[in-house]
Amino acid sequence: MGIGVVIVAKKKVIFSFPPSLVEEPITYVLIKNYDLQVNILRATVRPRDRGRMVVELKGKKENLNKAFEYLEGAGIQVDALVQEMRHRPELCVSCTACVPMCPTGALSVNRETRELEFDHNKCIICEACIPSCSYRALESQF
Ligand code: SF4
Ligand code: SF4
Repeated sequence: MGIGVVIVAKKKVIFSFPPSLVEEPITYVLIKNYDLQVNILRATVRPRDRGRMVVELKGKKENLNKAFEYLEGAGIQVDALVQEMRHRPELCVSCTACVPMCPTGALSVNRETRELEFDHNKCIICEACIPSCSYRALESQF
């Protein structure tokens, strides 16, 4: 008997949906019907207005694919989050002002070089670090 391989995937995506779907329990459906972990990173959802959510989804790859089919069938546009937070080393002076602002440890100082290091994998795009940088070396882009 073969051993089934379960592929777990994690994706950051943007949901855009029309006013008619703003009150739909989208995240509930994703959790309940597709067994996904849903982490809402940012949301702009107002009644009678277009909604937008930046979401991190984690679950079995096949469930993720089925969930995307459900979302698109329901009229929700799903775009991969291609660009995220960006650290611009050419502008950074490694002053470290941003480091304590980061809740996830994505920003740290290399002990040997004393330079700032940015770990994309730890970043949740909360943007808490952006105002702390007087040199505009941190920016978010979609
Ligand atoms: S606050 Fe700006 S200049 Fe200072 S270490 Fe952070 S990114 Fe670099
Ligand atoms: S956006 Fe948030 S998580 Fe990402 S580096 Fe800045 S403070 Fe850290």
